[in-house]
Amino acid sequence: MTSTAETKPLIDSFGRRIRYLRLSVTDRCDLRCVYCMKAQPDFLRKSELLSLEELEQVAGAFIDRGVTKIRITGGEPLVRRDVVTLIERLGTRLGQDGGLDELTLTTNATQLPRFADRLYQAGMRRINVSLDTLDPERFRRLTRGGKLDDTLAGLKAASAAGLKVKLNAVAMKDENEDDLPDLIAWAHDQGHDVTLIEVMPIGDVGLDRAIQFLPLTAVRERLEQRWTLTPLAETTGGPARYHRIEETGGKLGLITPLTGNFCAGCNRVRLTCTGQLHACLGQEGSVDLRGALREHGMSGLQAALDQAVADKPEAHDFDVRPGAAPSVTRSMATTGG
Ligand code: SAM
Ligand code: SF4
Repeated sequence: MTSTAETKPLIDSFGRRIRYLRLSVTDRCDLRCVYCMKAQPDFLRKSELLSLEELEQVAGAFIDRGVTKIRITGGEPLVRRDVVTLIERLGTRLGQDGGLDELTLTTNATQLPRFADRLYQAGMRRINVSLDTLDPERFRRLTRGGKLDDTLAGLKAASAAGLKVKLNAVAMKDENEDDLPDLIAWAHDQGHDVTLIEVMPIGDVGLDRAIQFLPLTAVRERLEQRWTLTPLAETTGGPARYHRIEETGGKLGLITPLTGNFCAGCNRVRLTCTGQLHACLGQEGSVDLRGALREHGMSGLQAALDQAVADKPEAHDFDVRPGAAPSVTRSMATTGG
């Protein structure tokens, strides 16, 4: 079959084929994690966001051009009104004919007791939940007011609905450093794999990133005093390197944007909730898909997609040295984590 502008694969100038879209549906959140946003963030006006219909149109265009995996994210995606309707509509594209292999979500889990069943019914099977500590007081501090019990209730609801959960934890110096081994042991006991993430200098959160930064090389050394970590060959095309912890039987992913560059195999792009397509998380460049779609319809959108992918940078250039400015000015919640 010859490919048309609407079905031409998205291949960047380094030969990487784009198969994975992270779709941010809101920059708002019911938590205020210290590594992610300021205590009093300036949220976008609702009128600046892509409508749910536009999000569906853009996601559909990506699927037609070979994207097989979509992750809904934010901000907290489940605080956007009617987002589950969008998820249900995208769920109809799951399966060979629809083009989508996987529809998934990254969430802080607080809204899962309301939505987990519908997510499963929409075809979602696996989700990522962010949880950095099992200590209620430290959870409250790290999220600036969140309740650990709300996230734990969400985790329970996800499992009860049949959703497989992977936990993400951001490693932070002096903050949750001591909690990570117990968090991993607990998660594996519950049947959840865990991925640890180095804090990235994304957005001005009102703190020097060097104070927050904890290299995962140090965390790993500490874990190896307790457990045997066997590296696994598997890769998801993403940045995580996986290990089996022999004693717990669970998997541990390590995402090391600072201590180990992962850009060569990058197959993903990110769409912000305002329709800006970022081909690289760690660079400022973006292409305005909202403008292209609103001014020139689907043909404008296709042309903008081609431009964005052609411009995808080879690598990020994060810097967490003391005093360094954020590598990019937008926050993780705006870009979509
Ligand atoms: N609210 C949802 C959540 O927390 O899972 C989804 C959005 S959140 C921005 C996505 C992921 O980004 C979370 O796992 C969070 O821990 C991570 N994150 C946020 N800011 C980060 C930073 N500066 N460095 C590394 N990871 C970050
Ligand atoms: Fe909200 Fe997720 Fe950012 Fe935490 S990491 S403030 S839960 S968007």
